[in-house]
This record gives sequence, C-alpha cells and structure tokens, in this order.
Amino acid sequence: MFRNKQSTEKNNKNEVKEIVSKENNFWQWFLWILQEARIVDTRYSVKGSYVWLDWGYKIFRNIYSLAQDAYEQSGHNQMQFPTLIKEEIFLKETDFIRNFENDVFWVDRAGTKALAKGERLALRPTSELIIYPMFNKWIRSWRDLPLKVFQNVSIFRCETNETRPLIRNRETIGFIEGHSAFATKEAALEFLKQVWKFYMKLFNDLGIPVKLIEVPEWERFAGSTKTIDGYVILPGSKSMELFTTAYLGTTFSEIFSIEYLDEQKTKQLAHLLCYGPSIDRIIASLIALYGDNRGLKLLPGIAPKDLIIIPIFNRKNRNAILSYAKNVQDHLSTIGFTVELDDDEITRPGNKFYRSERFGYPLRIEVGQREYKNKEMTITRRDTSQKLIFNLDSKNLKREIKKLLKQIKKTQQDIVFKDFVERQIDLTCYKTITKAFDHLLLETDRIYLINWCGSKVCAEKIESKTNFSLLGYDHESKTMQGLCIICQSKGHQSVLAKRY
Ligand SMILES: [Zn+2]
Repeated sequence: MFRNKQSTEKNNKNEVKEIVSKENNFWQWFLWILQEARIVDTRYSVKGSYVWLDWGYKIFRNIYSLAQDAYEQSGHNQMQFPTLIKEEIFLKETDFIRNFENDVFWVDRAGTKALAKGERLALRPTSELIIYPMFNKWIRSWRDLPLKVFQNVSIFRCETNETRPLIRNRETIGFIEGHSAFATKEAALEFLKQVWKFYMKLFNDLGIPVKLIEVPEWERFAGSTKTIDGYVILPGSKSMELFTTAYLGTTFSEIFSIEYLDEQKTKQLAHLLCYGPSIDRIIASLIALYGDNRGLKLLPGIAPKDLIIIPIFNRKNRNAILSYAKNVQDHLSTIGFTVELDDDEITRPGNKFYRSERFGYPLRIEVGQREYKNKEMTITRRDTSQKLIFNLDSKNLKREIKKLLKQIKKTQQDIVFKDFVERQIDLTCYKTITKAFDHLLLETDRIYLINWCGSKVCAEKIESKTNFSLLGYDHESKTMQGLCIICQSKGHQSVLAKRY
C-alpha cells in the first residue's frame, strides 16, 4: 500500500486516500481507476448497471469508431434493431430459452395491466431472436445473400453471480454485434475466417493480445455448431472472454424459415453467423493491460486527447504564460494533434500533473517562464516519464511529435504482447496430469497449455484436479497433435485458465 501522492498536497488534506497497488489488490486498484479516471460511476442504484462518465465515454467513442470502421470495411451495414422481444418468439426456440432462462429480464406489465403469457416482453440478452425473424422477411433469393449487418446496443442479463463493473454487468452498453447470412456452409465458414482476421487486426490496433479458443460442444451457445472465442489475460487478475464468434448452421433458419430460392429455383436454408465483442470489456482490458499505480495509461489514438498542456505561472507572468500556452495549443491543433489546455487557475500544477497521469494522456506539455522565453515546451512521456524539450518554431515539430507518439505506442504494445507470451505456460511436454501439475503453483493470471482429447470426462478430471477451466482447443495450434494428459488418446494443444 502506498499513499496517493496527491494527498501530500497542502490543499487536499480532505482527500487523503490509501490505494492498493495493481499487484497487491487488482480489484481495489481497478475500482480506483474507474473512479479517478472518470470511466464509470459504480454507485448507481440498479445492481450491475453503471453511469458512463465523460472520460470513459470519450474512450468508448474512439473504440466504437474503430470497431465501426472494421465492420463496415468487411462489408457489414449498420442497422439498429429494437430492444424488446415478444415472449411467443422466445417460446419458438426452446433450446435458446433454456440457455438464457435465468438471465432474462421480463416486462410483464403494461401500466397497471398484466401481460398474458406469450405477450410478455423480454429485454434482449442478445439479438438473435430480434434479427433473424427480420432476415426471414428480407431474404428471398440467392441474390439477397450474403447479408451482413451489425449494430451497437445495450444488452441485459440478470447476472446472479457477483457483478463486476465493465466485466460482468447486468446492462452492457457497448455490445457491438454482427450477424450474417450465406447461401452455403462453405461461404459462411469462409467468412467466419475473415471475421477472425478483422477482429485480430482490430484488437492488434487496440493493443490487446488475444488467444483464439475453439469452444467445446457443451459450452457452446445454443444453436451454434462451431464457436471460436477470443480470450485476453488480465494481469493481476484472470482470463476473460473478449468476444465470441459462432457458425449457427441452419438451426435458426429452420426455426424462422430463413429460406431463399437458389439459381435453379430450389428452396434452400440460409447459413448464419453471429459474433461480437463488447466495448465495456475492451475498456476493462485496456485498463488492466496498460494501467499502473499512477493511473490509466492510454495509447495514442485511443486517448481522447494525446497531449495536455499545463501552464505554470505566477501573478506576475500569468497573462503572458496563459497566452503562450494558448498559442502552443492552437499551433499543435493546426498541425493535426488532439490537445487539451488545462488552464484552470485554481488547481495547483502539481495536482494537474497527477490528474494528467490518472487520466492517462500519452504526453504532458509544461509551459512556464523558461519555455515562454525560449519559445519552447517541455514534453513528458506518460509511459517512461522521460522529458524532452521542443521548440515551437521548429520545422520538424509535427514530424518529431508524431514520431514520439508512434514510439510510445510501439514501446507499450511490445511490453504488453511480450508479457502475454510469457503468461502462457507450455505444459504440453508432460504426459500425465500428475507430472504436469503436482509441483506447480497455478496462478490465475496465466494460461496453461496442455494436450487434451476433447472429451467432457477428461475435461472434468483436469478441472477438478486444477480448479481451473478447460476453455477448449488452442485454435492457432490446432494442427499440433499430442496425447491427452488423462486418457492418452489423440489430442490437441488446449487452454486451461481461471476465467471471469
Ligand atoms: Zn482424454
């Protein structure tokens, strides 16, 4: 435990706060960041629902816009479907309802009138039952395929487990889900590969290393015949599912008669895919992967503003410094940077520095008497605390700052991606579970790679021995064969982890 530096400032005697470091108490640290960096306010009266605050919502919008581009570039059209689902639709799909039975919030009254069975309305836990009845109306001939749509919506799940802000919510606001329909299984599976590719590119751009895992049959979403999930490891915490992708085959097409006439005028069922990450969990990942004990650390481009100017002045030079700081801001904006000027005259510069660190601005610019006199600015990197001096009139200023931001992004991403590799412990050389785990102290923020045959019985044995979850086959190493550490029959490299 250490004392928050801010509390040593004279004016903040009332704000003395003890905070726990990321290494010692991940959750206390995570909640501290949510509050101090103004991501969400967790004090809302409905359990598992949060108020998105200004800084958090600005980050949300930047991620949303990157995701939106990725969906559009891969041929999806953005649409917006309603939130409520009529119960009679739910009753059509009994497997699906069983899957979500305990998770659904129901609207069972309209004003004072109780709604009859079948007429009751569910708040969407996910959108299959909203979108696919419409696919039925839109798809007529092979010419209507493929059909690819996406939307960004709130989803509601009545989590009975302990809720965790951004990770396990009752209302998740940033579910950015894609749904698509194809004429054949081959076309659907081919596109599924493209979805993995564009998701991996998106997460790479966001600086989040992801493990693709082939989910075993008994864990799959109802109606899905092939599911690949993307997992992230949160340092100091556990693994977390970041997105899911599923080939649904013709299950929902049979239920909702999503049929088309092929070129020979024969009726065929459409093959469906669904997939989606939530921006809520993306932000949780960014906090956990990049944040430190001074606060949030945002990558350039994801930060709402890459630079913040903090003027340092006294009564005598106030006007000159503030107007110089404004010049610096205007100049940097003109040459294409996102830059904020913290010209609040009440807060002391020291407190402004701490605030800029908590909010995770990649670069902080100080301008005081010396900088003003020499037409300079002192720039400090959030990631390394390195200080650099730049001249405002330099012809290379734009190039130099761009280079610096690029460096910051690369340095930080390299650290995170290297760490991700080191957190994967390869135990595939062990032939039996005893040899693999008997002398190993398992850590929750690691994943363990073992060989597994794919059977539920063996998975359960591995899980009861380790108290971790067998997530499934390691998708990228699926071709690597080995013998199952339980039954010694043919298996593949698989992933064992503690997960949310
Ligand atoms: Zn086995």
